[in-house]
Amino acid sequence: MTSFRDLSSRALNDLLDALRREAQNAHEHTRVVQELQTHQIELELQNRELRAAQQALEESRDRYADLYDFAPVAYVTLDCRGRILQMNLTAAQLLGIEREQAHPFLRRHLAPADARALLSSLGRVLNTGQEESLEVEFGRPPHPRRDLRLLLRRERPGADSDAPVACRAALLDITETKARAALLAQQDFLQSIIDGVADPIRVIGTDYRVLLMNAAARGLAGSAARPNTALRCYGATHGRDTPCEGPDYPCPMPDVLTGGAVSKVLHRHQTPAGQTQWIELIGSPLRDARGRILGLIESAHDITRHLQLTEQLKENELQLTRLAEQDPLTGLPNRLLFNDRLRQALRRAQREQHLVALLFLDLDRFKDINDSLGHPIGDAVLRLAAARMRTLVRDGDTVARLGGDEFTIILGDLAQGGDAGPVAHKLVEAFKQPLEVNDRVLYVTASIGISLYPQDGADVETLVRNADAAMYQAKEQGRDTFRFYTADMTTNALAQVSLETALRQALAKEEFSLSYQPQHDLETGRIIGCEALIRWHHPVLGIVEPNDFIHLAESTGLIIPISTWVVRTAATQMKTWRAQGLLAHGAVSVNLSSRDIQSPNLAETVVDILDEVGLDPHALAVEITETWIMARPESAAFNILHLQTLGIDVGIDDFGVGYSSLTSLKRLAVRVIKIDRSFVAGLPDDAEGCAIARAVIALGQALGLKVVAEGVETQAQADFLQREGCRIVQGYLFSSALPAAEFAAYVRDWIPPQAAPCGAVAAP
Ligand code: C2E
Ligand code: MG
Ligand code: MG
Repeated sequence: MTSFRDLSSRALNDLLDALRREAQNAHEHTRVVQELQTHQIELELQNRELRAAQQALEESRDRYADLYDFAPVAYVTLDCRGRILQMNLTAAQLLGIEREQAHPFLRRHLAPADARALLSSLGRVLNTGQEESLEVEFGRPPHPRRDLRLLLRRERPGADSDAPVACRAALLDITETKARAALLAQQDFLQSIIDGVADPIRVIGTDYRVLLMNAAARGLAGSAARPNTALRCYGATHGRDTPCEGPDYPCPMPDVLTGGAVSKVLHRHQTPAGQTQWIELIGSPLRDARGRILGLIESAHDITRHLQLTEQLKENELQLTRLAEQDPLTGLPNRLLFNDRLRQALRRAQREQHLVALLFLDLDRFKDINDSLGHPIGDAVLRLAAARMRTLVRDGDTVARLGGDEFTIILGDLAQGGDAGPVAHKLVEAFKQPLEVNDRVLYVTASIGISLYPQDGADVETLVRNADAAMYQAKEQGRDTFRFYTADMTTNALAQVSLETALRQALAKEEFSLSYQPQHDLETGRIIGCEALIRWHHPVLGIVEPNDFIHLAESTGLIIPISTWVVRTAATQMKTWRAQGLLAHGAVSVNLSSRDIQSPNLAETVVDILDEVGLDPHALAVEITETWIMARPESAAFNILHLQTLGIDVGIDDFGVGYSSLTSLKRLAVRVIKIDRSFVAGLPDDAEGCAIARAVIALGQALGLKVVAEGVETQAQADFLQREGCRIVQGYLFSSALPAAEFAAYVRDWIPPQAAPCGAVAAP
């Protein structure tokens, strides 16, 4: 029998058709054979179809297996415990796990937290059938780490399969994506940092292209910073076509490129409002990993305000220095700067072998002006005096104010010491000219002492001390003049210093005494009282004049106990005289000073003494110098009124030199004014003296005051005074001040001449 297997399917189909056609006409037994054959052929054809289908199936399965194995996506099938039941080749490669290994645990390759997350995800997916995605870190050290994303989907085996339910996981390697994302996040972070900087920051390439900007720089660039435009740094902010240059816009790039160091430049902008704006640009090199310079990192900072503040600070410092070295009242150098200038002048003089003169100038009786006219006028006088001095010296010479009314003048590089004389003379003469202050004309003279370098001293201190001593000499010799220093002045100055110590002990050592100068009534010729004048018997110096220590006592405060002593001594003396029948109607006049009349207890102290002594208050009178009253008009007025109420006459001493105004005079409850000696001195020839004496007498009469003239030395003076209506006088014409016993004798011996017209009362 023919084997159909060897025939092709087409031949078999042809044979089958032929057999079916023959079967209609064939005999029974032939037909049976033919049907058998037909059946056989049909079976063969069916077999062939089945085989073909099976082969197609196998081929498809192989293809699927290939697809599965070589798919670009890694697949694993996991059971609920995270065991890998199956995986494709890609997964095996990705995970580095042999496929032959029997069900390895995926979770063992994960970090513990990720392993736990995987197990719970698997549980949920298997239970709910919901897909889940999960990111894990695969690979524990020392194996390289990878970031994986797992997409989990439940996998149901076929209905007839008894395999357990599992999870198919597609594994995506996201290591690079994650790294890139981290990089981007870091970039964003860095950008946000530089954006957070308020100053504009730009990264600029060597071709001036802006590679990176922060928000502030972008803001400045404005529309110039269009995307996809090659923005150049100079175009971005200055709208220029070429790199910055010139003094207003220097470019830091060349320095950074050549030197590789940080470069700072200053840009000067003009704002639309016309204000200058200073921008500091700091360029630091931008380098690659190998250190090559790729451009610069530029930060810009507006330092306009900073510069303004620095400028202001400098100005303040300058002002502070000026204040520290300048006398605020006159604008002259103060003691500090003077010391410095003199030191410099001495150094230069030593180098260049020449002389330096130091002039110490003190205004005469400035204290009186200050006390009587007040400090504002005093200040104005000092200012005018300073200005006057400045105009009289050369530019290189220093005029300084040491304090109060003390000035110094440094005359540098003198050829000979005598050259200082004409300058001092010029200054003294200049001060003879009156000063005009607030419509007042004031005469303020000056006394000057001169010391010379090197003969009078080699250092600042010695020269100042010696010029000061010379100035005192000038004062003692009548003021309004100058004196050169001589060595014996130092001895005098030293005596001045020890005078204070001696004065402190004088009361305790009973070195004071009182002399009494009689006061006469020109009309009756009688002695109507006396003035008590203090004398100091210094153990070494002999008699010291009150003018030489009263001011010292005043400034040291020693005057208070001295005055108390004077009042008590004079009152006791008067009590004695009265007991002896002398001066039954007269009064003893005591001098009080500035400190006394400032004391609120003055009247009580005087009354206590009078009570203690038992003297009638009318037997005591008080004199206060005009300048001292005017220095403290309020407390003076209070004390004068108080004393006056007690019956003690108060007089203004040295009247006419203290600039007291008529109003203040009227306000004070004084009873007596004493014409100053200096006005009496010129009588009757000096027209000015006469006019003043006349005016004072008329004023006294108009105000109902007793007018006393002191320092009457000649009969002509006495005659003039009497003629003008001044009845009471004291002076050498009658007697100088006498010790108590001598005074008593004087009074006893005095025989008043007959009341007579002018000129009749003559001195003994
Ligand atoms: P003063 O109160 O104006 O006293 C008059 C001064 O003139 C006295 O000088 C007196 O000796 C002097 N004198 C008197 N007659 C003549 C004269 O005819 N010609 C001249 N050239 N001078 C004459 P003294 O005693 O040196 O006193 C000077 C000043 O010292 C006094 O001036 C007075 O302000 C003050 N003084 C004197 N004694 C005291 C005192 O006990 N207490 C206080 N606080 N000051 C006193
Ligand atoms: Mg007096
Ligand atoms: Mg006087």
